[in-house]
Amino acid sequence: MRYLIAGNWKMNGTRPMLAELDRIAEAAAAHKGVDVAIAPPFTLLADATPRAGQVLIGGQDCHQAAKGPHTGCISADMLVEMGARFVICGHSERRAEFGEGDSLVQAKAQAAQAAGLIAIVCIGENEAERDEGRAVPVVAGKLDGSVPPASRAGNLVISYEPAWAIGTGRTPTMAEICGMHAMIRAKLIQLLGAEGVAVRILYGGSVTSDNAAQILACEEVNGALIGGASLTADQFAPIVLAAAAIAQ
Ligand code: PEP
Repeated sequence: MRYLIAGNWKMNGTRPMLAELDRIAEAAAAHKGVDVAIAPPFTLLADATPRAGQVLIGGQDCHQAAKGPHTGCISADMLVEMGARFVICGHSERRAEFGEGDSLVQAKAQAAQAAGLIAIVCIGENEAERDEGRAVPVVAGKLDGSVPPASRAGNLVISYEPAWAIGTGRTPTMAEICGMHAMIRAKLIQLLGAEGVAVRILYGGSVTSDNAAQILACEEVNGALIGGASLTADQFAPIVLAAAAIAQ
């Protein structure tokens, strides 16, 4: 399966930051065996897409409705019009800050897929759930509740992101990451049948150029979703390189 190395710029960046995208696009062009994606803030989408080369540009969130009285919200079709190819749904920051639950995340993913976008659906446990030994059932439940039942391998990506590992510099052990990804694969096959075999499963949570090669070597890790280390090409390009080296 081709690796997908995706960056989430979150609420960072005005136009000058697109210089980083230019350099990320150069790295992507140099490593054509890896899919590379960046989700800049919505305000940069229109400027980002024409200079992205083969980097897929996407949104960080979308509304579940196609249109209507939802002040400040962005529909999946609006993302498509800006050149987006994917959208992140149910990132742990949206779940925690805006109270997004599984059924809303599922509705957003469904809206995204209906508009022709790839939905990158994020699932993961928080620190308390992990400390209580409930990480596996929590992640399994979020997968059940958040994945649209008619998803196909071409319009769904899962990102396993333990919330306690995001932006903290802490990561689960390799055994924990590999075990969780194996569980997610088995459940995807249960939920989606043959399509579940080919859905890419990313790991997210403090991925850097130092740990990327080790994490990506895990059998059911098909890429990474990266926050902090996606903000500069200096940090992000070596992760693309690490994926390309394993893919060869
Ligand atoms: C994220 O926000 O999805 C993420 C994984 O962030 P970081 O890489 O900074 O931990």
